[in-house]
Amino acid sequence: MAREKQKESSFEGKVVLVTGAAGGIGRAAAVAFGRAGACVVVADTSVDGGHATAAMIVEHGGKALFVQCNVTRASEVEALIDKTVAYYGKLDCAFNNAGIEEEHLPLADADEALFDRIMNVNVKGTWLCMKYEIRQMLKQGGGTIVNTASVAGLVGAPTQSIYAASKHAVVGMTKTAAAEYAREGIRINSVCPGVVNTPMMGRALEREPLREKKLRNVHPMGRFAEPVEIANAAMWLCSEQSSFVTGHQLAVDGGLTAI
Ligand code: NAD
Repeated sequence: MAREKQKESSFEGKVVLVTGAAGGIGRAAAVAFGRAGACVVVADTSVDGGHATAAMIVEHGGKALFVQCNVTRASEVEALIDKTVAYYGKLDCAFNNAGIEEEHLPLADADEALFDRIMNVNVKGTWLCMKYEIRQMLKQGGGTIVNTASVAGLVGAPTQSIYAASKHAVVGMTKTAAAEYAREGIRINSVCPGVVNTPMMGRALEREPLREKKLRNVHPMGRFAEPVEIANAAMWLCSEQSSFVTGHQLAVDGGLTAI
């Protein structure tokens, strides 16, 4: 009963970290968490974009701290968590969303450097973030983590074999860590977006403009997602509203994986 009384989607007093928050889904999520009352840590490699997101949160009356962080470097991720705790005192929720795509080639045409680049950000980056976030959450007695996977973490993605492998890895890490820490009060889930209107998708469509119509049509809803639609799902998974949900991969894909 106590849970039913809680204010819907309120993050008042919660400290929320969002990586890849200088644009796209991460920015939409950081702004939405800020509006819901959270103290937000905006993390990204991009200084200008990161400061711009933090400024948007503050403009809406929220609280934000920008920390420059490359999620592929352990020392920077550890420092990110240390700065979060030094500034706000704790870490309640983390949205590990930083990721890259960069791939439109059949598997046999892709090279090793591309493999290393995508795996480094999407897999190692997510793993490092979870590692240091979980260490902090264990000290506090709990927390929630949401990782951004993709529909490419649930089904195959022709011309994106490396990206699909990286997102399947995010799903594997999410399920495993969820089971490992379920009794420590830490819930860990992922969101699996279909195609989303973000700078990442803009770059992909610049390379192959003819793909746009085809890509829209793979979604039964006949359109791409807006970043805030993914942010809303991540917020729900971070909130008390999803208190018995862990190890779950939430497709937010306009029906793409239903057919
Ligand atoms: P985006 O390129 O618009 O934003 C990604 C952000 O991550 C950028 O601000 C970038 O600077 C940051 N980033 C990249 N590498 C980083 C690193 N090493 N350390 C810290 N920050 C880093 O992309 P987006 O579309 O908003 O994608 C966000 C997430 O959603 C990614 O994980 C992506 O794989 C996933 N995703 C996107 C789509 C889509 O259609 N856009 C679909 C499914 C999943």
